[in-house]
Amino acid sequence: MSSPSPFSAWLAEDPEVAGLLEDELLRQRTTLQLIASENFTSPAVLAATGSVLTNKYAEGYPGRRYYGGNQVVDEIEDLARQRLCELFGAEHANVQPHSGANANVGVYQALLEPGDTILAMRLDQGGHLTHGSPASITSKIWHFVSYGLTPASDDPSVPGEMIDLDQVRDLALEHRPKLIVAGATAYARTIDAADYRGIADEVGALLMFDLAHPAGLVAGGAHPSPVGIADVVTFTTHKTLRGPRGGAILSTEELAKKIDGAIFPGLQGGPLEHAIAAKAVAFKEAMDPSFSVYAHQVVANAAALATALEAEGFRLVSGGTDNHLVLLDLRSFDAELTGKEAQEVMDRAGITANRNTIPDDPRSPFVTSGLRLGTAAETTAGMGETQMVQIAGLLSRALRERGDEDAIAAVRAEVAALCAAFDPYPTLAGEG
Ligand SMILES: *Cc1c(COP(=O)(O)O)cnc(C)c1O
Repeated sequence: MSSPSPFSAWLAEDPEVAGLLEDELLRQRTTLQLIASENFTSPAVLAATGSVLTNKYAEGYPGRRYYGGNQVVDEIEDLARQRLCELFGAEHANVQPHSGANANVGVYQALLEPGDTILAMRLDQGGHLTHGSPASITSKIWHFVSYGLTPASDDPSVPGEMIDLDQVRDLALEHRPKLIVAGATAYARTIDAADYRGIADEVGALLMFDLAHPAGLVAGGAHPSPVGIADVVTFTTHKTLRGPRGGAILSTEELAKKIDGAIFPGLQGGPLEHAIAAKAVAFKEAMDPSFSVYAHQVVANAAALATALEAEGFRLVSGGTDNHLVLLDLRSFDAELTGKEAQEVMDRAGITANRNTIPDDPRSPFVTSGLRLGTAAETTAGMGETQMVQIAGLLSRALRERGDEDAIAAVRAEVAALCAAFDPYPTLAGEG
């Protein structure tokens, strides 16, 4: 079945790129998207992202621009800021960061001097590159001290691999950081800002909460909010929050000037106003009661996926999940199977996810012993717990029978049938 491509009308001049966009739409529609940091935005968010606002220079902030012609852009950015403050109950919002990484670097720049100490989570225990990885510029400018997880536990009644708050406090007392960073990129449990506030106060540190992953869960009331507890909250708009690719910062009114100045002119030039318009659209969507239903379903789906995978023999890092993601230790399923191979096998079976280090991973970060899965995208497509159990079965089959190409092809066909019943873009044309 073929119908007109949604891109061909716009891109008739460039069939090469139009064809590639068509290919990517087809890929997103016909394979399972289980990358924990991805989602399917609404057609309205796509439209705003592809709008004429991409033409406009608007260095500065609403009412204080360095270029003319910003009457409309000012209204758009103000709307985005107001909606974001309303959504999270925050005093001040900056919607200009081009990405989550820029939001974090902007905050460090706003609050710290080069060489100051930051206490943040270790990358190999679930932290982000911008939390002081040697590969990140952040570690070259600021001095990082890292905390991690409690040891794994063999006793099911004592959950292991939880954020070690005693260690956070001990390190804070020892190193007296100016800033403590809460938040992670590969941690399946709830992170409560309240647990960090007392520690930050005890050592006179500021508290930043990097909410990149669970921002949408907080917006939907399915995860405790750090707003009003942490001094600054950064996040991405494209993960569970389901907006365009980008970042944002929430802060107290007291820190507003410093934060704004650190993003522009401190770190970035002209803001991406087309992305800011799309952020405004996403923030309105997240205020709708249906988004709360969505956020709770994302969490219920992750729990169903985790339980079903555990029954297939995978060990769950941190013993389970409270949020949208599941971190698997592959070694209990198959001692020979690496994260790298699992990711490649799943790709062939039409299941998209990413390998991940697990705490104290004996393999290198390029190979790994873990797999990170997330439910934000396929929940948007309409999947529920029944489909999660199906996915766990398909994924396990593909990995178990990875030497047999016919078996992989059979899984791929079942995946395609499942995806056909849950099209993320039913209103877009194209070869579905
Ligand atoms: C994804 C993520 C970021 C960075 O977001 P980008 O938009 O990819 O730069 C920062 N912090 C955490 C915890 C993340 O998970």
